[in-house]
Amino acid sequence: MTTVSASGTPATPSARLTDGFQLVVDALKANGVETIYGIVGIPITDLARRAQASGIRYIGFRQETSAGNAAAAAGFLTARPGVCLTTSGPGFLNGLPALANATANCFPMIQISGSSNRAMVDLQRGDYQDLDQLSAARPFAKAAYRIGRVEDIGRGVARAVRTAVSGRPGGVYLDIPGDVLGQAMEAAAADATIWRVVDPAPRQLPEPEAVRRAVRVLAEARRPLIVLGKGAAYAQADEAIRNFVERSGIPYLPMSMAKGLLPDSHPQSAAAARSLAIARADAVLLVGARLNWLLGHGDSPQWAPGAKFVQVDIAASELDSNQPIAAPLVGDIASVMTALCDAVAAHPITVAAEWTTELGDRKSRNDATMRERLAENPHPMRFYNALGAIREVLQANPDAYLVNEGANALDLARNVIDMQLPRHRLDTGTWGVMGIGMGYAIAAAVETGKPVVAVEGDSAFGFSGMEVETICRYRLPVTVVVLNNGGVYRGDEAAAGASGSDPAPTVLNAHARHELIAQAFGGKGYHANTPSELRSALVEAIASQGPSVIDCQLDPAAGVESGHLAGLNPASAAAPPAALSAGG
Ligand code: ADP
Repeated sequence: MTTVSASGTPATPSARLTDGFQLVVDALKANGVETIYGIVGIPITDLARRAQASGIRYIGFRQETSAGNAAAAAGFLTARPGVCLTTSGPGFLNGLPALANATANCFPMIQISGSSNRAMVDLQRGDYQDLDQLSAARPFAKAAYRIGRVEDIGRGVARAVRTAVSGRPGGVYLDIPGDVLGQAMEAAAADATIWRVVDPAPRQLPEPEAVRRAVRVLAEARRPLIVLGKGAAYAQADEAIRNFVERSGIPYLPMSMAKGLLPDSHPQSAAAARSLAIARADAVLLVGARLNWLLGHGDSPQWAPGAKFVQVDIAASELDSNQPIAAPLVGDIASVMTALCDAVAAHPITVAAEWTTELGDRKSRNDATMRERLAENPHPMRFYNALGAIREVLQANPDAYLVNEGANALDLARNVIDMQLPRHRLDTGTWGVMGIGMGYAIAAAVETGKPVVAVEGDSAFGFSGMEVETICRYRLPVTVVVLNNGGVYRGDEAAAGASGSDPAPTVLNAHARHELIAQAFGGKGYHANTPSELRSALVEAIASQGPSVIDCQLDPAAGVESGHLAGLNPASAAAPPAALSAGG
């Protein structure tokens, strides 16, 4: 380390110097980081410039939460940590919801924030944007580190990379005070402080006895079921998963972000008979899926009383978090599923024909109902009719990525739009968070170069809508479809009481022309009133390979309060069911 005097001159006058900014860039590059998502400002503006100059792509956002969401989605898609860069204080705080969301979803990301002078912050002397960022980040991250000396930058980055992707992935916060970024160091000595993390997410093999136990539980079951979660999608173990599903013959249910691991048209998919599959299964193999609220915590009556659970997870602490796990399989999904494949090859499992027939009958009935709904053509349009048009276009574009958020826009799109390829669907995930839309869409376009279609409720779109400017600035192949029913849930609620002319709390502007946002920034805008207008706008928008927004005008009376989560809404849970289904 230096030997730099207070004036910044090196002790050896001829020594070549580098500084903290450059070392962060060098350390990220050494660890394969190709893109940084962020917003510049004090003290990290030069970090973004240097990153760009040295060949890292820098994508500049309009709000840090979206930049963080993009980094998280990049982590999910690539299984390498996505990097978000923010300023100190408020910029840092804006990044935190995304960091927390990444951690909740088990997506690897690193939020790097510049911070104020420690001596000022710790004595609360009132520095510019001062905040004890390290302490603030800790509860929201898998881990939080601060780099206090220029010679620790390589170590800090290596630690962040290792922590983000190893074991259960998650969000890591890396705090770098501005004065550390500005510190100088002799370049030759600095090189030795940077290293590339070797095998950042090592395989974890399951115990052979654990594999035998799991196969026994599944083989003894009369109605076995596999549940694939987004951990299974993240693991990029597509072939091992498909082999096990097909070799065992066990019906499977994909969680929303696991759709496409096997094509949704696969004959073993029980997605169209989801409630029956859950209610009747007597042994359930969970692969990268947690028994959290999204699976009713594994409780009866949603699940059959006495159902046995087999769980594959890299985090042993996840097991028994909700239900007893009869056969724990701790390890990485690729290794565990390969071991399970080998085990069923040696001891085949036979799935009873009554079980597959029972599920098949329910699937046919539900598929017929879905077809009827999609065939309706009401004026104004409702969710199903719009989604039917989107489904058709996406079926013809299987490599397009689908981003999806909203209440009804999410619940219904998940059921209507089939996925054919793994990791092509990104949505609100474990938290059901709104505002991920544009950040996820930008990351999907940047990381894959493929077309992206974001299907957004009009309320959900509002949380990150300004990022349409980012999409236009980088000319990304993103089409945003705003399902505009003019409200949170729906747009036809009358204001209560003496509120004068104020709209009801759930009401937005049903006449809003969201497509004009795209036009304002040089993208294309479309307005669709019918499924056929929507279909042709979407075909044209995808073919343009550029940015577009389609405002899709829906009936303000379409939609139900809280979407499929009425049971979690204390007010609607108490209301008679008819009130909930009135919106269709
Ligand atoms: P979903 O919401 O789709 O049900 P979750 O996010 O609840 O999925 O579950 C994902 C699970 O996958 C987490 O418990 C996480 O620990 C686990 N996981 C993530 N990556 C791996 C991996 N490579 N191998 C094994 N388990 C993994």
